[in-house]
Amino acid sequence: VVFNKRLEPWHRARDQAVAEALEAAGCRVQALPANALYDPEDLQPIERWQRWRARVRAEEAEARGLRVDANVRSGIPKAFEHVSGFGSYRFFHHALEELGSPPQPCAAVQRLPRFPPAAGILSVALRDLGYGATSGRGFTSELRQQVSCRTANGSDWGAELCRAWNFGEAAAMARLQVFVDEVLATGDFEGRKRLRADHQGTSELSLHIRLGELSARTVYWAARKRRERTDQKLFEEPQHPGPARANATFLRRFVWRDLSYWFLSEFPTMPVTSLRVQYETQVWTGTQRQLAQWKKGCTGFPLVDAAMRQLWATGWMPNYLRHVVAQTLIEYLDITWKDGLNWFDWTLVDADVAINSFMWQNGGHSGPDQWEFVLHPVHAAKSCDPEGAYVRRWVPEVAGLPAEYVHRPWDAPP
Ligand SMILES: Cc1cc2nc3c(=O)[nH]c(=O)nc-3n(C[C@H](O)[C@H](O)[C@H](O)COP(=O)(O)OP(=O)(O)OC[C@H]3O[C@@H](n4cnc5c(N)ncnc54)[C@H](O)[C@@H]3O)c2cc1C
Repeated sequence: VVFNKRLEPWHRARDQAVAEALEAAGCRVQALPANALYDPEDLQPIERWQRWRARVRAEEAEARGLRVDANVRSGIPKAFEHVSGFGSYRFFHHALEELGSPPQPCAAVQRLPRFPPAAGILSVALRDLGYGATSGRGFTSELRQQVSCRTANGSDWGAELCRAWNFGEAAAMARLQVFVDEVLATGDFEGRKRLRADHQGTSELSLHIRLGELSARTVYWAARKRRERTDQKLFEEPQHPGPARANATFLRRFVWRDLSYWFLSEFPTMPVTSLRVQYETQVWTGTQRQLAQWKKGCTGFPLVDAAMRQLWATGWMPNYLRHVVAQTLIEYLDITWKDGLNWFDWTLVDADVAINSFMWQNGGHSGPDQWEFVLHPVHAAKSCDPEGAYVRRWVPEVAGLPAEYVHRPWDAPP
């Protein structure tokens, strides 16, 4: 039996129990960490970072003609050193350099052996296993009671989401191919075009990765093989060393995925409790009414409302807008990141407890890599929707306004 293991710490014990039961029944079992590049249990980034730091210090000292202890040169630190930037991308990236490239994805299964009819095992429908009714973290009973799965016009929310996406492995592979050929190949992802909300500038693969239709490794290697040269050691191909940048911005996202999963495995309470505990007592002054307006896309800021309506209609919104709406909730409405996390968990088709809680904690400043910027709900539109095409699509109330006023309708002449 070959299966993709769940990397959330609370599912590990279950996977382990299933594997042991199968082995006891005489099956050979192989579990793969398909949802990340590396298994969080193999990472040990703090120890690896310490060794990386010791080696860098030794190189610096040698360059200045100083004598260097042989242990330090081989990466054994003299003393346990304060990890600078713990939780940040750079800390993790340097730690991974020692591990080297993540393994390549396994080859696709061509043919499965026929199931022996004599085994007498009955097939069970997914529905009967209760997979339609998720018990994902954040789906509190209060939230379920508050939110109806019917949309405003009474239609079925799930059916609308299904219309917005092509599901399945074939659709996922097709999207990957288009993204690699038409976006990565142009180098557009490296520039600011990926921030645009008015056209498809990112891969839009998160749903497929979340549902297990594509593994993180498949996407990573498809992007990395496309253009091998990069200035970041971890992504470098030995046959093409050198400073040319290629797809590093995209590849970095997969390192973030692993960083989130590593944090979740170290801090399983990340979805519910501030990692910097002093933030647990923070007083928030935003009201339930403001929270409801944010959820419905009725804050009055067209960019925020467009993104929140897109989220409800399709279960997705671009990364840049996730930052904008998160900061509107936290910084301007003064509402706890936990409410934002719960809403995203409920509505996102790519809702991923590790990434979602890592990002919301950082947005709420209680996470390891606090956001040190605040995006303004009007000014942010300059980067992502300069002509207003995106807000016109989702907020018909402002569709008739010229670009100058479409993001600040309150300034429009009467
Ligand atoms: C507040 C907030 C909440 C988020 N919640 C989620 C979530 O629940 N699930 C989720 O998959 N992403 C989440 N993200 C990260 C990011 O917004 C989405 O992964 C991205 O928008 C998905 O679109 P894409 O596939 O086109 O991304 P691309 O930019 O094309 O990136 C490719 C892949 O890299 C991974 N990735 C991208 N950004 C990040 C990131 N910051 N951290 C970790 N992995 C990343 C995703 O798997 C994504 O599919 C969140 C971001 C914010 C700011």
